[in-house]
Amino acid sequence: MKQVLRRVLATGAVLFGLAVPAWAEIPAAGTQVPGFYRLRLGEFEVTALFDGATRIDTKLLHHTSGDELQRLLGRMFVDNPTMQTSVNAYLVNTGDHLALIDTGGGALYGPVLGRIADNLRAAGYAPEQVDTVLLTHIHGDHDGGLIDAAGRAAFPNARVFAPQEDADYWLSPEAEAAAPKDRQRSFQTARATTAPYREAGRWSTFAPGDSPVPGIRAVAAHGHTPGHTAFAVESEGQTLLVWGDIVHAHAVQFHRPGVSIDFDVSQKQAIAARRDIMKRAAEGRVLVAGMHLPFPGIGHVRAEGNGRYAWVPVEFSPLPPRPTP
Ligand SMILES: [Zn+2]
Repeated sequence: MKQVLRRVLATGAVLFGLAVPAWAEIPAAGTQVPGFYRLRLGEFEVTALFDGATRIDTKLLHHTSGDELQRLLGRMFVDNPTMQTSVNAYLVNTGDHLALIDTGGGALYGPVLGRIADNLRAAGYAPEQVDTVLLTHIHGDHDGGLIDAAGRAAFPNARVFAPQEDADYWLSPEAEAAAPKDRQRSFQTARATTAPYREAGRWSTFAPGDSPVPGIRAVAAHGHTPGHTAFAVESEGQTLLVWGDIVHAHAVQFHRPGVSIDFDVSQKQAIAARRDIMKRAAEGRVLVAGMHLPFPGIGHVRAEGNGRYAWVPVEFSPLPPRPTP
């Protein structure tokens, strides 16, 4: 068949006098492009970094039904029963600080995650330049990238800031002992991923309202974990709200914010936080970024009535030229 095609193409090239190259066997590249996406926010430059994609079983979603999931996932062309779920982090260059918000899963999840350091380099930075790591919460897919495969600090010059309530919970032997058996691994990874920073005296905690870096303010969004935090990144009157794990299943939870996920430490509080943040983001037309929204995970929330919302991703855009000082 290929030979017939070749002959037809060759004849065509001769007939029309075109300089068509011979039909070549072209090997597929087989790899994805580097995962980073940039935008300008006032004086700041924000770079979304792709850590990889994991799959979440729809069985882990609560307060919904099989029929509803089939309908909501189907209309968004999302796989069922396991949904592809992106893991993202956000690098903020304020001019004075290079702050990384979350670090992806590092080596904790095998080859599906762990691309933050590579994508950070592809984006033109080095891990050594990161002076601040801000954690939305202490879960392996957010703090796993704090350490390399050998357990050393992946960001050797960074101070790490975690929400106080999360540090109190995930680093507490008492909370670990009281947690269900299948959750105890999370406490062990929390200790391991944060250890090099705590031991080196480069570990701090923050409370809602604090700005660990000027221009990046902690906004309480508790529920998914006790201290789960969004960060309002603000420069020159522009805001990007990096909302962490407010959404895990974009095809489901914008339309039905009352659907929660098994990983939520408090289902009730997580649902309330999602409703509150979505309402504020939609009303204020706030640009948001989410760690589990399809990469780059940046866009707007549109109100659809009756407490329902829709996700409107950003368009791939050129960067505006820098204003001359
Ligand atoms: Zn997460």
